[in-house]
Amino acid sequence: MSAASAQYCDSCKVVHDDMDNVQFSYHIAEIHMPKGIIVEWNQYGYDSNYTTNVLLLQPQRLGGDFRTFVTTMRTAGIYDFLLRLQRGSPYNDHLLPGHWNILGAAIQLGRDDIVNTLLDEDRNYLDTYCLRGSLGRVTDLSMHPMVQAAKAGRVDLLRKLVAVNNFRIMPEVLNRIIGTQSRGFIRAMFCGNFPPSVIVKSERSNETPLHSSLMNSDNSIFNLVIDRFFQEFQSYPYTTMGSAAEIDMKYYLNLEANLPDRPPNLTPLMTAIVHGKAAAVRRLAGMDLVDVYSPNSLDYTPLYYAARYIKTAALETIIGKLPQEPEGQETDDIRASDNADSINYITRQGGTALHALVRAFIEIDIYARPPRAVQDIAKLAKLLVEREADTNIPHPLTQLTATVEASALGFSELYEELMRG
Ligand SMILES: [Zn+2]
Repeated sequence: MSAASAQYCDSCKVVHDDMDNVQFSYHIAEIHMPKGIIVEWNQYGYDSNYTTNVLLLQPQRLGGDFRTFVTTMRTAGIYDFLLRLQRGSPYNDHLLPGHWNILGAAIQLGRDDIVNTLLDEDRNYLDTYCLRGSLGRVTDLSMHPMVQAAKAGRVDLLRKLVAVNNFRIMPEVLNRIIGTQSRGFIRAMFCGNFPPSVIVKSERSNETPLHSSLMNSDNSIFNLVIDRFFQEFQSYPYTTMGSAAEIDMKYYLNLEANLPDRPPNLTPLMTAIVHGKAAAVRRLAGMDLVDVYSPNSLDYTPLYYAARYIKTAALETIIGKLPQEPEGQETDDIRASDNADSINYITRQGGTALHALVRAFIEIDIYARPPRAVQDIAKLAKLLVEREADTNIPHPLTQLTATVEASALGFSELYEELMRG
């Protein structure tokens, strides 16, 4: 075990020379399962750019030209402000620092006069001063004009921005709003003419409103969004809930997204599990169109995530859906661990759900083993063992059983439960 071995790492795309199998297995676990048990998910998870807003509001901290322009934006009258812009110049937004844009900054600064003048369709200033681009840009979402309107709680303004953008809202922007705003705001956004569709996904990350609603700290947002999701499908014009709509529904309900600072390749169900949204897990797991067992493209199952992130309620829900393991084990051993609907499914680089518990323990060990977390891991081990989880299956990378791993690492509470298996 101590002998150094060369390991090609799929994730880093390099050979790690000094890693033995055990270290390599933990390295993979770190990449695929970023910490999230003790360091609870930041409820504004992917909206950590508030600091940039502070900079804009403090012109004294900006360099000369930026400072002058921000001061103009804060204090000058509308016509003095417009005089600072150049007609036909694509660089007007560059008068502001970083990825700031004039529309977004004016909203944050509360300059309704500037915003209304720029959005006045008769005057067409958005095109005259080349300011329309910021509505379609998703490089720094926290500064996007629509996100700024949402942060200011201005549904009316958001609607107006969507209208001048040809009634388009970028999926990235919609996801950011759904992931961070209040229930009242999101409900209001869905009212009125031309409400945004929730059957969309972000271009690069595959994130859908089903995912982003699960990242909102308000648990009720998910129900709001998924109800709309089904409503929209019901009004699909070309079908009476026939096959086309079902294929689309199944696609969106099981789509793997890469969410910032989260484990990669999470389906909506896995997102709900990782975020400990027990009610959403139950609702999704109860749907025929949702894959409750299937591994994602990294080969991790919902069961594995529930164990790895110590989500007891989610694990109970999933276990409740698993078919019973066959009684006489001799004949069905191999079948069992190969099937995703088995409690003994072996993920390619993570081992079984029991191995996931060992890795969860390694994580809480860093935080001095909070008693509650230790108890929960023991409880999960008990639940799994009671459902015939096999404690003798070796991890594909370490070649060790979960019992041996737990013993070697001194995780006695887990070891004791596994010994009952
Ligand atoms: Zn690596």
